[in-house]
Amino acid sequence: MLRVTFLGTGGSLPTPERNPSAVMVNREGELMLFDCGEGTQQQMMRAKTGMKALSSIFISHFHADHMLGIPGLIQTMSFHGRTEPLKIYGPHWVHEFARILSALGYYKLRFEIDAIDLSPGDVIKRDDYSIMVLKTEHSIPSLGYALVENERSGKFNRQKAIELGVPPGPLFSKLHRGESVEVNGKVIHSKDVVGAGRPGRKIVYTGDTRPCKAILEASKDADLLIHDSTLANDQQDWAIESMHSTAKEAAVLAKEANVLKLVLTHISSRYSDDPSQLLKEAKEVFDKVIVADDLMELDIPYRDRT
Ligand SMILES: [Zn+2]
Ligand SMILES: [Zn+2]
Repeated sequence: MLRVTFLGTGGSLPTPERNPSAVMVNREGELMLFDCGEGTQQQMMRAKTGMKALSSIFISHFHADHMLGIPGLIQTMSFHGRTEPLKIYGPHWVHEFARILSALGYYKLRFEIDAIDLSPGDVIKRDDYSIMVLKTEHSIPSLGYALVENERSGKFNRQKAIELGVPPGPLFSKLHRGESVEVNGKVIHSKDVVGAGRPGRKIVYTGDTRPCKAILEASKDADLLIHDSTLANDQQDWAIESMHSTAKEAAVLAKEANVLKLVLTHISSRYSDDPSQLLKEAKEVFDKVIVADDLMELDIPYRDRT
């Protein structure tokens, strides 16, 4: 399973329709949050994402609309008896942020907060995927993130293996793992019965940014690009000054990167209840685009290049 739930899709401020930034990724039962704006925990409850399996929070930058939800969320998790450490990743200042969290008010967390300071180019390697840390262009130190799954082994041709005399059973597993096996004095190689490696899935989350090179490069052929889309074309000057992107700029980048799907988020309050102008301007450039709504869920399937 690779499910993305948009918990907060508003830009800079909460509105009646939109919470500030937060995106939950559920990968095979592990939960990861990308940003955690005010009210994120209630959105998690509404979306029924669960909380217990939250392993990590990745902060794009320390503007209030991307991190004010953390103090409340960690208190709730502690109240529910969490004891497993929680990793909070972010740009420079994340250690100070974690220190302030632990000094805030009269509560004591039952679990450790493990703060990890990231720089562009860092790669967090996990068992089946990596998180690539991307340089973004915002008004304060900021990062984007790409979740990139490891390549999966190729498809196993069962029929061919049987034809080559391999009996179904443990030898099949060996061949699928890339090993050679010997049957009646004949060596059968893995490549004889296993196809080419198949790509994993890739999701890119920009946080707040101007369109930029690192996002473009990381987004090549991505399954999903979640891009800052704060403003419409007629506000481009303000987008440049405030270091955000317009919907059209996000679409131009998505097209160049050949992404499978673009989701526009961090929607300014001026379009909060009607983002149709953003969608229209993006669609003129790139039609595989939608505007995120709060509590929207997307399942990201494998797309096998057979
Ligand atoms: Zn923001
Ligand atoms: Zn910001």
